[in-house]
Amino acid sequence: MEFVERPPGYRGPNLDPTGVRLRPRRLAEGVYALMAFPPPRDNSGLVVGEHGALVVDAGINSAMAHRIQQTVRRLTDRPILWLANTVYHGDHSFGNAAFPTTTRIIASRQTAASMTDLDAEKRARAQNLYGNLDAIADVTSWRRPDVVFDDHTEVDLGGRTVQLWHFGPGNSPGDTVVWVPEARAAWTGNLLGHRRVAPMLLEGGPAPYIDTLARFKSTLEVKTIVPGHGPLADARALDAWMAYLRELLEAVTRARRLGLSALATVETVPLPRGHGFPPWHPAARMNWLVQDLHRLNVLATYRDLERQPTAA
Ligand SMILES: [Zn+2]
Repeated sequence: MEFVERPPGYRGPNLDPTGVRLRPRRLAEGVYALMAFPPPRDNSGLVVGEHGALVVDAGINSAMAHRIQQTVRRLTDRPILWLANTVYHGDHSFGNAAFPTTTRIIASRQTAASMTDLDAEKRARAQNLYGNLDAIADVTSWRRPDVVFDDHTEVDLGGRTVQLWHFGPGNSPGDTVVWVPEARAAWTGNLLGHRRVAPMLLEGGPAPYIDTLARFKSTLEVKTIVPGHGPLADARALDAWMAYLRELLEAVTRARRLGLSALATVETVPLPRGHGFPPWHPAARMNWLVQDLHRLNVLATYRDLERQPTAA
């Protein structure tokens, strides 16, 4: 069940697709990050083999799904055999229906299981549209994955294998990492972003998220991380996000022991050092969002601890 409470003044990520541009970044032969501008709109990905291609994430509506496919057409003439959803959220999956019926959609079992209540998901994602509800007005069906996997699977594109990993819950129950071993590139959806950004706790507290990132780190020797939102990242993001979540858990636990209310804790627990971009960085304009996400995380952690049986 997605966490719906928000701290006072929370705005959250703007995912309105109006005027979004997709810029391909070549990571290796036939391996592209499709970076969305302005951030934090949804990034996608493309991996090309001899027989066909795999696309990572579908966009928030059919117009974005077509934009992604047009971008793919400029980079390869191979058919799109596969579309992977890294998370069930509509900004990654509402575009599914606008891919050809010959494209097979693949996702983790938990991601597929989360894609049942379209109206509820449209209401949740409408909060990220900053009033432009027209953007998802044409979303009338939610095309679900054709193929699901539990922990790990791979697809063969012809001379090119793409792996899909579910390491456990993080931002959502079914978070999936799409991994191209030769490029050591990972598409991480909402699970992991740039080390200076903060996670978004929508499904419980930090502890299971830390375990999931630890499994990720011990399994894949990642070089390039293509997050679902925001700038490209590298392996340092794993340690930075695990450290962030540990610090968050400790700070909120301490505040609760001192008897602080939830809102007082939100106002008291500072963003850990190393998060937020320096002023010269192009992503510095996302710093207010990093602060916003942090305040949400403090509140989500507080509520999660409230639900835990208290230790004697
Ligand atoms: Zn997302």
